[in-house]
Amino acid sequence: MDTLQIAETTLRLVQGDITEQDVDAVVNAANSTLMGGGGVDGAIHRRGGPEILEECKGIRRSGYPNGLPTGEAVVTTAGKLPAQRVIHTVGPVWKDGAAGEPDLLARAYRNCLERAREEGLRTIAFPSISTGVYGYPIDQAAPLALSMVAGYLREHPGAIEEVRFVLFSEKDLKRYREALENLGA
Ligand code: ADP
Repeated sequence: MDTLQIAETTLRLVQGDITEQDVDAVVNAANSTLMGGGGVDGAIHRRGGPEILEECKGIRRSGYPNGLPTGEAVVTTAGKLPAQRVIHTVGPVWKDGAAGEPDLLARAYRNCLERAREEGLRTIAFPSISTGVYGYPIDQAAPLALSMVAGYLREHPGAIEEVRFVLFSEKDLKRYREALENLGA
């Protein structure tokens, strides 16, 4: 199962590259510096061009001189990407699961959805936040991400048309599919 209808929103899983998504907003799994990095972050800045970094620098100067705290989210231009906007969030670095990681991961997803709703962005694509360099076990991240998003969509029906999870590998897609099946059951 790769789609689930939740109120008026389609929750969809796809395998692919987040930078290629033609949606209103793509989410960047950034780090607190907002100055770019590896994985999703590197790909977004590389393909989106320098305009994104310029806006990130402005956000740092004006609002977050010490960096964007974990779980928060901010919006910039998407530069040359097909998407209209980039929502940058910082997921938690996995330690042992007892350091508040689930709560912080849920907050990252929630704040991205809040930013999207505030800006009237109706289609949004997420990568699997924190499950790359940040080491969050995907078996735990996938059900949390999907249930967090599903809960939000039920609370705010009509605000968002589509939430797409873009999984880089077949293996990651499989994990999310299992989690979606459990959610839909
Ligand atoms: P984090 O630092 O939050 O762990 P990463 O960018 O390292 O973020 O990885 C998050 C997830 O995104 C990983 O599962 C990784 O395989 C995947 N990923 C990396 N590049 C892309 C991309 N271009 N599109 C979609 N997913 C990607």
